[in-house]
Amino acid sequence: MITRTLKEIERMTGGGGLQSKWDGIEIRGVSIDSKSVEPGNLFIPIVRVKDGHDYVPEAIASGAAAALWQTDHPNPPLHIPIIFVDSGMEALQLLAGAYRAQQPVKVIGITGSNGKTTTKDMIDSILGTTYKVHKTKGNLNSQVGVPLTLLRIAPDTEIAVIEMGMSERGQIERLSRIAKPDLAVITMIGVSHLATLGSREEIAAAKLEIAVGMPPEGVLLLNGDEPLLLNGIKALPQPLQCLCFGEQESNAYRADAITTGAAGTRFSHGAASYQIPLPGKHNALNAIAAIAVAELLSVGESDIRRGLQQLSVSGMRMEVIRTAAGFTIINDAWNASPVSVKAAIETFEVLTEYPCKIIVLGDMLELGVNERIFHREIGRIVNPGRIDYLFTLGVLAREIAEEAASSFPKGRVRAFTDMQELIQEIRNTIQPTPTGAILIKGSRGMALENIVTALA
Ligand code: ATP
Ligand code: MG
Repeated sequence: MITRTLKEIERMTGGGGLQSKWDGIEIRGVSIDSKSVEPGNLFIPIVRVKDGHDYVPEAIASGAAAALWQTDHPNPPLHIPIIFVDSGMEALQLLAGAYRAQQPVKVIGITGSNGKTTTKDMIDSILGTTYKVHKTKGNLNSQVGVPLTLLRIAPDTEIAVIEMGMSERGQIERLSRIAKPDLAVITMIGVSHLATLGSREEIAAAKLEIAVGMPPEGVLLLNGDEPLLLNGIKALPQPLQCLCFGEQESNAYRADAITTGAAGTRFSHGAASYQIPLPGKHNALNAIAAIAVAELLSVGESDIRRGLQQLSVSGMRMEVIRTAAGFTIINDAWNASPVSVKAAIETFEVLTEYPCKIIVLGDMLELGVNERIFHREIGRIVNPGRIDYLFTLGVLAREIAEEAASSFPKGRVRAFTDMQELIQEIRNTIQPTPTGAILIKGSRGMALENIVTALA
């Protein structure tokens, strides 16, 4: 975690106006939320829906050693140690960038439409066998989350694994300039954020912005099964070593002979074979990206194998829950986009050990003008030969149900708008076959984990 005197903080944030009697005060760590302030923190007010300046007194009362203050904000509390800055957000990012530049760590940046958190957790688990690693906590991948993550790097850290998310052009570029990744991974390109970005080409270009802050000797690892990325690297702002991973033979890091089931996924890579405790072919692709990173950092095969075996990923990502009642829930409720829903359905369909299989899908949000078409397409891929029931929740997901209804036996597809009604229907359906399985997936805004809680 960052420890610096206020005089140094003033320089690093590009701020001013610190009274000289407070120059020598040392801050320990940074906080933007008065509720989670720890003693000695520097409190940085961010102006969003709420105005962080309103919380400065509370932060100081909770032990913050000092605060930043935007010059455009009235009534600065001059009786406490404050540094004036143009913008709290920009100061946070400048501070993180300056701190990162002073750390002798290797930074690994991870972006992509899906699989960022999973790949980040895999890389952490493998590299943790050999190095002292710092990683993004949970999903803290935003314009605020990335700087906060960087500011938590301990001085003896060897490698920082940083997840980078975005919703529009320019955001990954900014994060890359701050984090300066030595190694970067682009997991895949989907259609998430199509509403704001307009096309898959633009989505690919937005992810490729991660190259902007990389040093000339940096290595960019990208999904070589995605033509948009292979095309996109031709237009990189500076020459970089680009290496590909994926399923196709042309990739430098290839996952081959992938087999998957509820207990996990196996694949081979060259002469080695690996196993991960996560269902889904897509997770073999996340794993091969993590293996590529590990090999580039000279981690040996047995440590890679150990790292993958002891993997614990963040929850709600193909999380297999065996309930006391006997049935299995595959909780993939973290998020949903057309590509990830397809990946989850394909994974679920090949689990042959369950006598009854139910798919529960919620709305996929933020897909723009073609959102109905995307939902209809999902309705066409659910295979009635492998799935017994399909239930949907939400007005968009209703389109999935309508599309699927004609291929399923009557009564096996139902659309709901009320979660409690849906939960009751699942209970009724599972009763005669208590060793069945349920896949649950929807966008973050649908909060389908509440179904998991109710059933488990
Ligand atoms: P977010 O943008 O919400 O941070 P993320 O990119 O971090 O998402 P994860 O949390 O790792 O992604 O995974 C979310 C879901 O995406 C998983 O539950 C799974 O359904 C799907 N997924 C993960 N990896 C892939 C992949 N390589 N290809 C397609 N879908 C994937
Ligand atoms: Mg994530």
